[in-house]
Amino acid sequence: MTPRRITVLGATGSVGSSTLALMDEAERAGTERFHVVALTGGRNIARLVKAARRWRPEVVVTAHEGLRPELEQALAGTGIAVSAGADALVEAALRPADWIMAAIVGAAGLRSAWAAAGTGAVLGLANKESLVCCGPALMARALAAGGRVVPVDSEHSAIYQVFPHDRPQDVHRLVLTASGGPFRKTPLNELAQVTPERAVAHPNWSMGAKISVDSATLANKGLEMIEAAWLFAMPEAKIDVVVHPESIIHSLVECVDGSTLAQMGPPDMRTPIAYALAWPRRMAWEAPPLDLVALGSLTFEAPDIERFPALDLARQALKAGGNAPAVFNAANEVAALAFLDRRLGFLNIAAVIADTLEAASASGLADATGDACEVALAVDQQARRLARTCLDRRGQAA
Ligand code: NAD
Ligand code: MG
Repeated sequence: MTPRRITVLGATGSVGSSTLALMDEAERAGTERFHVVALTGGRNIARLVKAARRWRPEVVVTAHEGLRPELEQALAGTGIAVSAGADALVEAALRPADWIMAAIVGAAGLRSAWAAAGTGAVLGLANKESLVCCGPALMARALAAGGRVVPVDSEHSAIYQVFPHDRPQDVHRLVLTASGGPFRKTPLNELAQVTPERAVAHPNWSMGAKISVDSATLANKGLEMIEAAWLFAMPEAKIDVVVHPESIIHSLVECVDGSTLAQMGPPDMRTPIAYALAWPRRMAWEAPPLDLVALGSLTFEAPDIERFPALDLARQALKAGGNAPAVFNAANEVAALAFLDRRLGFLNIAAVIADTLEAASASGLADATGDACEVALAVDQQARRLARTCLDRRGQAA
C-alpha cells in the first residue's frame, strides 16, 4: 500500500488532533498508510512535539517565531526540520501532498488555505473563515489546480454527501441545522451577563474556544450560510437555517421534486473528518452508533433572530456581497476574542459586528477589488481596525 502524503495545518487544535487520531486508528487497523509531509501548530509546543514524534513529518512549523528555539530543542536529533512564522506556514502548505487538512482557526488560516488550494491536492477544509473571506476565488483556484475542496464542517459535509454534484439545478434549497447553542433557552435578561465559561460549554459539540463562542451567538451559523453559498454555488435566497437541538440531522438538501435528503449521525466531528480524509471512499473507524430508538424524537424550531442578531447580520453581509462577508468575519473574530478576554459583554458581540459592517460600508472598504487573497487579507486587517474602534465604544458599555 503506497502511503498517502498528508499535511495537517492546525494539527494541535480540536479538528487537527481528531484528524491525527483517526489516521492513527486507521494505521493501527492496517487499512491505511500515511506519510506526513507537514504539521503546523501555534503556541502549544508540547502537543506539536508529541504529534511530530508520532508521525515523523518532513517539517514541523509553529506560527510563532519566538517559539522556534523551544520547538528546535524538543526535536533535536530527530531529523525533523523545524520552521516558524507566517511564511513558513505557507511553505508547509505548498509542499507536495495528496491531502491537506486546513484546520487553523480564523482568518489566520487564510494564506495557508489559499496556498494549499493552489497545489491540486484534495483540501479538507475546516477553516470556514477562509471560505467566508474569499470563497468564490478559493473554489476556482482549487478547481483550476485540478484539486478539490471537501468540506469538514459537519453541516457542509452533510450537504456534500447528498448534494447532486452533477445536477445542481435539481436543488431547490439548502437547509443548515443549528443546535441553537448553550443560550437557546437562557432568559433574555441574563444574556448580557453570561460568562465565557458558560458560552464555551456547548451542549452537543466539543470544539475550540472561538468556534464555541460563535456557536453561542449563532455567528457560526451565519459564517456557515456564507460557506455554503460558496461551496455549493447557491444564492443566499436558497439557504435556510433551522434549529435542531439534538444535532443528529447535520443538514438537508431539498430537491425541486419535493424530496429532501439528509445526512444523520451522532454529533461527533470525527465523522465529517473521516469522510473528508477518505474521500471519495469511506473509512471504517470506531464511530459511535446512531441509536434512533434511544433518541425517541427529533425536534426543530425557527431560529430566534432577535435573540441571535449575528445570524441575520451574516445574511445581510452575504446579500451585500463583495467584501462584506470578510468584514463580518473580521468583526466577529475581534468581538468573540474580546468576549473571551472579558473585555466585551455577550450581547455586544453582535453590536460590534453591526457597527463594523456599517462603518466598512460607509468607508467603501467592502468594495475593494484586486487579487482575491490579498484583498481579503487587506480587508481583514482594515476591518479589524474598524472593529476595535467599535469595540472600544461598546466595550465601555459592556
Ligand atoms: P482550535 O482553536 O482547537 O485549533 C486551532 C488551530 O489553529 C491550532 O492548531 C492552533 O495552533 C492554530 N492556530 C491558532 N492561531 C493561529 C495562528 N495565528 N497562526 C497559525 N495557526 C494558528 O480550533 P478548532 O476548533 O479545531 O477549529 C479549527 C477550524 O475548524 C476553525 O476554522 C473552525 O471554525 C473549524 N471547525 C471546527 C469544528 C470543531 O468541532 N472544532 C467544527 C467545524 C468547523
Ligand atoms: Mg458546523
